[in-house]
Amino acid sequence: MSKLIATSQAPQSSGFRQFLNFFKADSLPHRVRLISGRYLTLRRIISWPLLLACFLTPWLTWNDLPLVHFDLVAKQFRMGTVIFWSEDLMVLTWAMLAGAFGLFFVAMVSGRLWCGFSCPQTVWTFLFIRLEEIIEGSRHKRLKMDRQPWSIEKVLRKSIKHISWISLSLWTGITFISYFYPLEVMAHDFGQSDLAGMGLFWILFLAVMTYLNAGFLREQVCTHMCPYSRFQSVMSDKSTLVVQYDEPRNDCIDCKVCIHVCPTDIDIRDGMQLACIACGACVDACDSIMEKINKPTGLIAFRPGESTMKEALDLKQRPRLVGYALAFLLSVSLIGFQVASRDVIQLSLERDRNSLYRINVNDEVENGFSLKMHNKTQQDMAVRLLITDNTQGFKISQKKFNIPAGQRQQFPLFISLPLPASGSSSALKLSSRTAINIEVIAEGIEQPINEMSTSFFTPNIQ
Ligand code: SF4
Ligand code: SF4
Repeated sequence: MSKLIATSQAPQSSGFRQFLNFFKADSLPHRVRLISGRYLTLRRIISWPLLLACFLTPWLTWNDLPLVHFDLVAKQFRMGTVIFWSEDLMVLTWAMLAGAFGLFFVAMVSGRLWCGFSCPQTVWTFLFIRLEEIIEGSRHKRLKMDRQPWSIEKVLRKSIKHISWISLSLWTGITFISYFYPLEVMAHDFGQSDLAGMGLFWILFLAVMTYLNAGFLREQVCTHMCPYSRFQSVMSDKSTLVVQYDEPRNDCIDCKVCIHVCPTDIDIRDGMQLACIACGACVDACDSIMEKINKPTGLIAFRPGESTMKEALDLKQRPRLVGYALAFLLSVSLIGFQVASRDVIQLSLERDRNSLYRINVNDEVENGFSLKMHNKTQQDMAVRLLITDNTQGFKISQKKFNIPAGQRQQFPLFISLPLPASGSSSALKLSSRTAINIEVIAEGIEQPINEMSTSFFTPNIQ
């Protein structure tokens, strides 16, 4: 096992200074070299589907509506046929818990794996570096051009690069905002020169942040701005896989390719560092060098921090890891349960606060209520109310209701019971309070879809 040196490299320059230095020929920013290998392939396998899903989803529709829409005005989140309303907040709670436990699990398995393979900061930074390489050439050519005085070619290449970065940033801003402000509406408003102020602000804000973070600040975000880097170390144990340099092997030829490819500009040969985002680029780089000089690969590799691979795979020794996995699975199960058990019609039956009961013109005891119904589906619904076990003959003032898709409606509702003749032996045995259960039946399918309970109050009759 390699000797571990706990170091944390000081930044070579602050983010803002680096941003300014970017334009100076005598103070060059870190130019990342892209290198192929298994970890680059793995990052592509993980990040490309995420990127495609992110950029394509706003273009997809379902029943002429956006497939995914966070509708802040209507306080609903629509995903295909499922609509989540503000009262379904528990789903969000379980989703956040699942995300947190999933992240804890991954961090304990292999440190900042999330940072290196799926974090938007890393994914967009690598996209920007790829554009830079296509337009300005390899790392060597980029460094050479940086040192050269300004020329027409240099101005042209740098201008094209920044135009491509700005275009990608704007596209990113539009894409993210389109989850809240559907593309069709946005395009219509833009055509009418009526793009909502807040919408325009957030598009430009996200575009500027993308341009600065992925184009200039890059590793400074990972090392100084991201809170995850600060607390992820408490989630690791001695068996967490971390990128390590195997110093005792003594095979290093000091080619420095592992530094050139590092997006956070560190030398992993100095030991484990907080800034390492576990992207595996230095592993790919060093493996390719070792293959060229006919030495075994793995001089830099993912290895357990302070134990052996056998110990790392022994789950009995890692109860915290098992706990995170179980908590993640439980949270995911609760999301599924919460979604499956959601009411399609949300009900609320509130009693008339002015009187418990009254005698109406038909000599019936009557209780007044306010019935609120919320159709949480995307289809209009016709429902009817049915009092279950109605041996006493309760009557409902209105039984049938039509609730348009996604609408909340409120109705006055009266439940009544004929007043028995005083002293009659056949009189219903009325107590002052009778429990009532009401089922809501969906017309067409004739199935109960929800139910509600209340009490019916009467005067005491002897
Ligand atoms: S040291 Fe290696 S794994 Fe860590 S960030 Fe740099 S290139 Fe990626
Ligand atoms: S890539 Fe490998 S051989 Fe080259 S400097 Fe880094 S550790 Fe040494």
